[in-house]
Amino acid sequence: DEIAALMRSHIAEFPDFPEPGVLFRDITPLLADGAAMRRVIAYWCSILPPDVEYIVGTEARGFVLGAPLAYELGVGFVPVRKAGKLPGSPRSVSYALEYGTATVEIAQGGLPAGARTVIVDDLLATGGTAAATIELVRDFDAELLGASFLIELEGLGGREKLGDLPVDAVWSVP
Ligand code: 5GP
Repeated sequence: DEIAALMRSHIAEFPDFPEPGVLFRDITPLLADGAAMRRVIAYWCSILPPDVEYIVGTEARGFVLGAPLAYELGVGFVPVRKAGKLPGSPRSVSYALEYGTATVEIAQGGLPAGARTVIVDDLLATGGTAAATIELVRDFDAELLGASFLIELEGLGGREKLGDLPVDAVWSVP
């Protein structure tokens, strides 16, 4: 369809980045095309739960995509940051990477209890980042409606890792 064609022509592929064997999908060409971005954001808004109150986006590409979604829907945007960037006493969740661990944080008081929330990011691969973000959102007793991605790489177990949470993507790549 139109959106898939738009995605295919605006996502660049870089073999062996950031390490050998990985085919990296680069969203830079999409970001640089204003008309394509507006089309994709409008479509993405149309598949998000209509009663969402907060978009939670993960640093850094989840900011660039989550902010226009939240703005377009007229709802709040809550940034999920990498460790050490937030003042006060943020909530933290650490998760395993292939080598070492990473930590994601949301500011103290950053999400009201019961808030109807959707997590967004540019890409779902193994689901590690999204699973940690989900844990963080649930720690605030928010009502998690789903997780939504610009790109889903199928066959890497990401969707399965997120349990029975509804998972959506603008573009799914087999
Ligand atoms: P996961 O935690 O699901 O394995 O990886 C997803 C996270 O890594 C996302 O935050 C995403 O931004 C980043 N990521 C992994 N692979 C790619 C890729 O090929 N392209 C882009 N743009 N981001 C990726």
